[in-house]
Amino acid sequence: MKNAYTFQNLSQQTACLHLVTKKDKTAPYSFSLALHTQEEFDKIVKNRQKFSTIFPNFKFIVANQTHSVNIYIVKKNQEQGWSSLADAIEDSDALITNQTHIMLSILTADCVPILLFDPINKVIAAVHAGWKGTQQEILLKTVQKMQEVFNTDPKNILAGIAPSIGKCCYEVDWNVAKNFEKIENAYNQNNNKYMLDLPHINKVQLLNAGLKEEYIELSNVCTACEVQDYFSYRKEGGCSGRFMSMIGLKA
Ligand SMILES: [Zn+2]
Repeated sequence: MKNAYTFQNLSQQTACLHLVTKKDKTAPYSFSLALHTQEEFDKIVKNRQKFSTIFPNFKFIVANQTHSVNIYIVKKNQEQGWSSLADAIEDSDALITNQTHIMLSILTADCVPILLFDPINKVIAAVHAGWKGTQQEILLKTVQKMQEVFNTDPKNILAGIAPSIGKCCYEVDWNVAKNFEKIENAYNQNNNKYMLDLPHINKVQLLNAGLKEEYIELSNVCTACEVQDYFSYRKEGGCSGRFMSMIGLKA
């Protein structure tokens, strides 16, 4: 798919597939893939169907993301939340699996999507971290869950931190910034405003979880700066489009 973002580190892994979608102005709703934001259902499903042909034999998993720290382990080889909202994984912001032919997905427009791959035990995860999830350390907790359940050694994990709003554009007030006060370089202060660096804070969480720095790849793409390619809730004044970050294991 030419109109997509991929990570270098994950692209070198033959055991997994991954991708981050971009906008496509020729498709309905600029190729939004979100079913929960009140667009015409049939058109979004058509966007999804058209897209899924590039990963034949994969079943897509979509969660109802709620800025929680709930982690769901996918055990069944069964599509969920893809053709309907009714069977989406309930109230979860991180998905983990060791099943092949399952595509774990995260929908965002500014929040931080993170893809993880343990190449030794063949385990993958997809995580959604807005400021609330980041504050509650959902990424750290997801790595810990991979350790507990699948015996993952964090130092083997490859991570991709996908396009999300950067500190260039993510202005927050002290009530938000104060949650990250103890983290070095978490924000730049500008009078009474704080420019929060969520991708960096999530990288720090991965380091604290035991990942090697050289295995962590940041896209360094800001969704607000590059709004022609990505949906940005901030830049577009509360847009309803969402792009999708995904990862799946091959057989
Ligand atoms: Zn920016």
